[in-house]
Amino acid sequence: MVAELAELVAFESPSDDPAALERLARHLERRAGTAGLFVRRVHDSPPVVRADIGNGPVRVLLLAHFDTVWPVGQLAIMPCTTTDGVLRGPGAYDMKAGIVIAFTALDVVAREGWPAHLSATLLLTADEEVGSGASRPHIEQLARESRAVLVFEPSLEREGVKSARKGVGNYRLVAEGIAAHAGADPRRGASAILELARQIVAIEALNDPARGLSLNVGVVSGGSRSNVVAERAGADIDVRVTSRADAEAIDRALRALTPVNPDVRLTLAGGLNRPPMERLPGTAALVGRVQVIATRQGYDISEGMVGGGSDGNFTAALGIPTLDGLGADGDGAHALDEHVRIASLPRRAALVASLLAEWPDE
Ligand SMILES: [Zn+2]
Repeated sequence: MVAELAELVAFESPSDDPAALERLARHLERRAGTAGLFVRRVHDSPPVVRADIGNGPVRVLLLAHFDTVWPVGQLAIMPCTTTDGVLRGPGAYDMKAGIVIAFTALDVVAREGWPAHLSATLLLTADEEVGSGASRPHIEQLARESRAVLVFEPSLEREGVKSARKGVGNYRLVAEGIAAHAGADPRRGASAILELARQIVAIEALNDPARGLSLNVGVVSGGSRSNVVAERAGADIDVRVTSRADAEAIDRALRALTPVNPDVRLTLAGGLNRPPMERLPGTAALVGRVQVIATRQGYDISEGMVGGGSDGNFTAALGIPTLDGLGADGDGAHALDEHVRIASLPRRAALVASLLAEWPDE
């Protein structure tokens, strides 16, 4: 598994590099084909690769993305190394290790005898880090045809699984005022910057940590020079919610923002990108099953919610039981110290293999 992970990390694969994504897609197609999976390309660029095994009526969807946030060349800065039980490298933890775990689990179950009632579809996507625009329809279509979805994003700390995720919204608020000379004629102007500053205070006041509801104005820009009353200013807002109701309430509140200065116009763009992944009853049942398997294999598995979104948000929103965080244990997603705890790789593969091999026939 370490050798295969190092091989995948060596294929650098930023979301915005079609040629690099294509090279890795072809490698993954060969890998899946060699393992006896039936491989199809369901979307060309960004590539979406579908690999199927089994003919049973009970389908399980396995989701993994092979794009990373790292540019080509990052490997020279963060070389792939294995020391002290840890593998480092760009994209190793988020989430090439998850791909290796999924492949290995499928290999093991196939070798032991694939259950007759079961079929599994592994969907490998390449635009998760940029919102899953092209892959989302494929993910949702396959999820609707499946009994459950397993997502191979990194685990919670100490190999916990993720049964809920916050929903993620992205908005941009633009203020358009009236430019004027700051010295000669300031009263003719209407400052977009001043208006935006007031609105930012109102937006931050919508935060409600007790509800798990957060808004962050993470980027502001505006104005042209210090001696001009600013004509235009904009703010990028990140929104996190735990329920669809909160998402709708925040959307309404943002759309209701009105300018303090009537000479400034406000426009809001954006919306909810990933709906919240709420903990469905079927998801709780999946958690129970992996906990029983882990106990039998000699360790405990915790369960938790996280603030970041994944493609599991889309499938849970359709009402399909979705268990996330089945990838590797480690740390440092999107960070220079990104790493995988190697010991978690075979444990995760064994866990997923048992989950599939013992899948209920109903
Ligand atoms: Zn990821």
